[in-house]
Amino acid sequence: MANHVLLELWRFQGGRCAYCGRTMVDPRAGAGDRNTPLRATIDHLRPLALGGRDDGYNRVAACLECNVLKGPLHITEFIRLRWNTMLLNEAKARIRLTLDDRARMAAKERSGHAGR
Ligand SMILES: [Zn+2]
Repeated sequence: MANHVLLELWRFQGGRCAYCGRTMVDPRAGAGDRNTPLRATIDHLRPLALGGRDDGYNRVAACLECNVLKGPLHITEFIRLRWNTMLLNEAKARIRLTLDDRARMAAKERSGHAGR
């Protein structure tokens, strides 16, 4: 039953996680993909622990990583946390690329000077 609901949500959301927007693994995938962070799971916008209902108005498909991170957090709180973390990681990756580029340029300059 749960698999059918999950598959429906997954299809409805175009296979993307409701929170981070990444493409999730097809719920019909084999057991080998069960523990990937991008496994599709059912999440409750308002957590059941906080009185949320287990119905279609409260259910979304979310990747396992978001589901675990969200825990009992309120949706607003979680989205803020999630996006701050994602933007921070993206910024770090950009900075790392910039630093790598600079290191490459410096190495090229050094080899250029050595040739003279
Ligand atoms: Zn996600």
